[in-house]
Amino acid sequence: MDLHGVTALEPAGRVLDGAVPPLAGDVWLAGGTWLFSEPQPGARRLLDLGGLGWEPVVLDDDGDLRVAATCTVQQLTAWTGAPPLVAQCADAFLAGWKVQGVATVGGNLVTALPAAPMVSLLAALDGVAELWTPPAAPGAEPARRHLPVAELVTGDRTTALAPGELVREVVVPRAHLAARTAFRRATLTPLGRSASLVVGRLDAPEHGGQLVVTVTAATRAPLQLRWPSPSSLAEQGGPDAAAAAVDAAVDGSQPRRTWHDDVHGHPAWRRAMALAQVREVVRELLA
Ligand SMILES: Cc1cc2nc3c(=O)[nH]c(=O)nc-3n(C[C@H](O)[C@H](O)[C@H](O)COP(=O)(O)OP(=O)(O)OC[C@H]3O[C@@H](n4cnc5c(N)ncnc54)[C@H](O)[C@@H]3O)c2cc1C
Repeated sequence: MDLHGVTALEPAGRVLDGAVPPLAGDVWLAGGTWLFSEPQPGARRLLDLGGLGWEPVVLDDDGDLRVAATCTVQQLTAWTGAPPLVAQCADAFLAGWKVQGVATVGGNLVTALPAAPMVSLLAALDGVAELWTPPAAPGAEPARRHLPVAELVTGDRTTALAPGELVREVVVPRAHLAARTAFRRATLTPLGRSASLVVGRLDAPEHGGQLVVTVTAATRAPLQLRWPSPSSLAEQGGPDAAAAAVDAAVDGSQPRRTWHDDVHGHPAWRRAMALAQVREVVRELLA
């Protein structure tokens, strides 16, 4: 794809350290696997994140996982400490290994397709994104704020990013990395895009013991429901109660509460698949 409106390519570091001012029409360039696949009518200058040299995957002193926005899907899956959920979500990409070698975690979050596997993964683990706004003057630091990944994505291809804002990294708490998870995914065709992807997470008792169900792909943005403990859900009725709670939450009031509708699945079918998957993941985690 030729991006006809683009007239300049700038290393992103020069904008992030204030040496070059941000401009209208700036677009962050990560792996380019989405950016170069569609017309980008508003794009005037590409800010290349490639040379920033951010460490892709780091376990910090608290044992929390820090995934750089520029970490490729392949680098994340190759990380030796990765829990099984990482590979399960990477396998949910319609894209093969060639694309996964350059597609980045940050690019996947910001593209914000309902079937974005890194959204499914990092929302389910309650990852928190650090967002940077480039400074207006040389030598100043970027302004920083933090947002849960489940809130960063607000709808089909929409995010809570302000214009010019950048995803720097996502932090996953150690406790959630160690949690038990259950994964279910449905596609309309054997190699199709995810039409419903449900992850259940059960934290260890010493980490609070909460049970979290995250629905993606079936809804336009991540939908999460939480129970303080498996026993609290069991008292309400267990897997059927969890499915009923998800069904009641999808009331059409906002994108994350709306069944998604596109060529990859009718909303009624997505609803049926998602509710069955919710029952299954809860049953698996309660067993
Ligand atoms: C064959 C094929 C199959 C695909 N299958 C899937 C799929 O199943 N699911 C899916 O979700 N996607 C899929 N994609 C789309 C795309 O490959 C992924 O979403 C990928 O993760 C995008 O990452 P990237 O690094 O290439 O982003 P880019 O294409 O470089 O950028 C994507 C968007 O994110 C912005 N961006 C990138 N990084 C940042 C950042 N750190 N901060 C702020 N904004 C940023 C860019 O400005 C741009 O708007 C597929 C693509 C192909 C070619």
